[in-house]
Amino acid sequence: MAFSLITFLPLLFILFSFSNAMFNADTIKTLQGCHKGTKLPGLHNLKLYLARFGYLNHQHAPNNVNTGLDEFDQELEAALKSYQNFYHLNASGTLDGPTISQMVMPRCGQPDMKSSHKHEEKLLTFASRCQFFPGSPRWDKNHLTYAFGLNFPNAFVPPVVRAFNEWASVSGYFTFSRVYDETSADLTISFKNGNHGDGDFTNVLAHAAAPTVGILHYNANWNWSAGPEAVPGAFDLESVAVHEIGHLLGLGHSQDQNSAMWTSIPPGIVKGLNTDDIQGIRALYGLNK
Ligand SMILES: [Zn+2]
Ligand SMILES: [Zn+2]
Repeated sequence: MAFSLITFLPLLFILFSFSNAMFNADTIKTLQGCHKGTKLPGLHNLKLYLARFGYLNHQHAPNNVNTGLDEFDQELEAALKSYQNFYHLNASGTLDGPTISQMVMPRCGQPDMKSSHKHEEKLLTFASRCQFFPGSPRWDKNHLTYAFGLNFPNAFVPPVVRAFNEWASVSGYFTFSRVYDETSADLTISFKNGNHGDGDFTNVLAHAAAPTVGILHYNANWNWSAGPEAVPGAFDLESVAVHEIGHLLGLGHSQDQNSAMWTSIPPGIVKGLNTDDIQGIRALYGLNK
């Protein structure tokens, strides 16, 4: 019954997207001004970064990086331009200051992949700037249960509950309820540290898997605030929950900077769903009629 190919697609995707080697964010700052033809020690970090977030092919980010990878080739230029396009930066193919500023900003760990599926592209043009995961995996039910991992701080439960309520209310479709048994829950939410088995957390705030995997991990190394008001210097846990729940429901990243599905959020900022996110979820689940 439920064990169709679609069941395994998200698993394959999560394995693929989390298998890249780590990059060093500080090194990227030292590469300002580099462009095609440049050969610089540390350039492989830029390649690892772009591979990590879906702009360079996986095979160009092997675990054993050698100096040959410190060359700025045509492929890297194309990947950088496509990154700059996604972030509405000047698509010069040169690693300039604004591009570096965007890259070093803490962000979601999910790649900014583009769907190549024609049907999805049609839906996207119709709906919003939100992307879907390859194969558009979705839940085949509209009531989902969630559980918190062991030792999840009580203070952070209410912001996550509010984030679920927000998705329930705007979708007019999903309902969510908390359960206390992680093994039976559709969705599990926990804090993790460093490289914890499903991808490294370098520069990453949190990540979540596509349907129907149901895993959301927060990076415990950041300073988090429980809201509902913004706290200067701390990342708003609820805003990040709203974003990651979007992934749990099947949305990818959006190019709309004001949407919750934009890839990053600065500390001290509170953000909720906007029209782009709502149109995205409605398109994915065929709720537009
Ligand atoms: Zn994300
Ligand atoms: Zn994880």
